[in-house]
Amino acid sequence: MTQPGRREIGVDRRLSTLGWMNTRFDVVVVGGGIAGVSAAAELSRNRTVVLLEREPTLAYHTTGRSAALFFGSYGHPDTIPLTRASLEWFNDPPHVDHPVLTPRGAMTVVFSGALPDLAGGIPITAEEAAERVPALRSDLLVGAVWEPDATDMDVAGIHQAYVRQLRSNGGTIVTSSEVTALRAGSPWRVITPDGIWEADHVVNAAGAWGDEVARLAGLRPVGLTPKRRTAFMVAATPDSERWPLVTDAGHNFYFKPDGTQLLCSLADETPSEPVDARPEDIDIALAIERINDATTLQIRSIRSSWAGLRTFAPDGSMVIGPDPDEPTFHWLVGQGGTGIQTAPAAALLLDELLIGGPTPAGAPFDPARFR
Ligand SMILES: Cc1cc2nc3c(=O)[nH]c(=O)nc-3n(C[C@H](O)[C@H](O)[C@H](O)COP(=O)(O)OP(=O)(O)OC[C@H]3O[C@@H](n4cnc5c(N)ncnc54)[C@H](O)[C@@H]3O)c2cc1C
Repeated sequence: MTQPGRREIGVDRRLSTLGWMNTRFDVVVVGGGIAGVSAAAELSRNRTVVLLEREPTLAYHTTGRSAALFFGSYGHPDTIPLTRASLEWFNDPPHVDHPVLTPRGAMTVVFSGALPDLAGGIPITAEEAAERVPALRSDLLVGAVWEPDATDMDVAGIHQAYVRQLRSNGGTIVTSSEVTALRAGSPWRVITPDGIWEADHVVNAAGAWGDEVARLAGLRPVGLTPKRRTAFMVAATPDSERWPLVTDAGHNFYFKPDGTQLLCSLADETPSEPVDARPEDIDIALAIERINDATTLQIRSIRSSWAGLRTFAPDGSMVIGPDPDEPTFHWLVGQGGTGIQTAPAAALLLDELLIGGPTPAGAPFDPARFR
């Protein structure tokens, strides 16, 4: 990710210093989170691409605030194939000189009712769960599902790999550049404080602001709901470094080791406006209470906290492909809680759809399904 305050402009400096500029590209990508950079990088193989990001740094919003777990069984059923298909890229990422996945494992713990049937998951007893995470109160557990294939992701490394790929293909990144208006046509005219960017295609990768960007283009929104999720760090215990992620089957909390700390969350999903999300004390207190009830961790204080918006379409699946009313406007939104782990395959799909024209009726992720 870029240094705070650094402004990245790959276009002709003379034009930018003159203020207004008028520059023609094949594609303008709106948004510099993981969705925007991965799409821009894939598209830049065969097209001229400019990526516009409103904030001074890329990945400032949800992408920089994730729990960084690749979790094969997690998310909407339609997105699970995207997660699986992304493994090929994650296992051999271009433009990065170290592995971006590190073995972690995940354990879904069950306090009442039947164990969930998770693809690739192995049912284990309460005692076996407590062998993996001794802090768990096995006397309260029905059992758990063990997923050995879950891994930690190096989100900054993944994001940066796509930035490098985009740059090496001659792509342009402009930060501190909010898209304030979009005029449909051939070409599109995308208006920012730096000037007017012309392009044959627009990609909407604006995360929680996806519907707002569509409205700026005069298009109908798909009905996105950003949902706040809170996370915080507490001190680790001496043996916690090797623990898997522990998540409660009732979606009441999760925790996982993160270096010398434990990353904890309430697994909350509070509907929000698209904003720079902030953690609420009440959500942190509730998470601590639930984790303390389920474990012997006795958390009393936190070291840091943050919140991010996981943004969902009305059916919880992703929205990828051309707008039904304006086929040169391409949606890449609604990533929910799986936007990092699905990004490589989602970017390739967007690239294919951009070449292929209208999406076949009934295809997964089709923006037209909300009409
Ligand atoms: C606590 C938490 C834990 C998570 N854990 C995981 C996990 O373990 N695994 C996983 O895969 N996912 C996880 N996620 C979800 C994942 O982080 C998101 O799905 C993903 O980051 C979404 O990426 P994005 O690029 O769509 O959005 P963002 O990163 O929010 O990027 C959108 C960008 O668009 C920009 N933008 C908006 N409007 C404009 C405009 N008008 N002009 C210019 N730029 C604009 C914004 O400034 C922003 O930078 C988690 C999320 C949270 C909050």
